[in-house]
Amino acid sequence: MINSRNVDDLLPEVKEMVNAFIALCKKNGIDIIITSTYRDNESQTALYNQGRTTKGAKVTNAKAGESYHNYRCAADFAPVVNGKINWNDTATFTKCGKFAEQCGLEWAGRWKSFPELAHVQFTGGLSIKDLKAGKKIVFKKVEVVQPVPEIVKPIPEPIVIKPVVVEPIVIKPVEPEPVAPAPVVIEPVIVVEKSVEAVAESAVEPSVNQFSKFINLILGFFGKQTK
Ligand SMILES: [Zn+2]
Repeated sequence: MINSRNVDDLLPEVKEMVNAFIALCKKNGIDIIITSTYRDNESQTALYNQGRTTKGAKVTNAKAGESYHNYRCAADFAPVVNGKINWNDTATFTKCGKFAEQCGLEWAGRWKSFPELAHVQFTGGLSIKDLKAGKKIVFKKVEVVQPVPEIVKPIPEPIVIKPVVVEPIVIKPVEPEPVAPAPVVIEPVIVVEKSVEAVAESAVEPSVNQFSKFINLILGFFGKQTK
């Protein structure tokens, strides 16, 4: 019949958490003792019978195989003040329970039904039924508080299709060519120089001829011709 108080009888990871819990309480000025860790089925049965078929007060509702203590993942503790355990010191139990939670343990003092101020455990979400079926508790390292950097896949650079800037074809209005003013053609004045004789002829002869014609006209008028 085994009813251990030794943390070495816990699962290694649970032992680590319980040791951290003990240390955290100590750091905060509270000495605790571990009153129970692992219980075999025989021990559990004896405990279950207490207050039922044997004398004493009831201490558990769990039969053999129905306590987490039977699976090495639970521990009972008690704060020791001035060398004594005060089982009714709810305030100190509660303080310790919060330290246990900081160490990754579940504190049974928070349970709605049948709260146990002195009980802590780590079940990894497994039920007694799971454990009976042989499932193993999966532990996560609670010490690792730094977020593990995610391996971020490089996001491919988006293909930026730059808009092709099409230069607008500016059709410039064809400015009318300034119409050059038509050159003023100064036509050379052709001066036909007449010979002196011609000039004399044109100046004298016509007048002579015209005069004689005039005379002839008059004479003819009068019926007498000078020619
Ligand atoms: Zn317990």
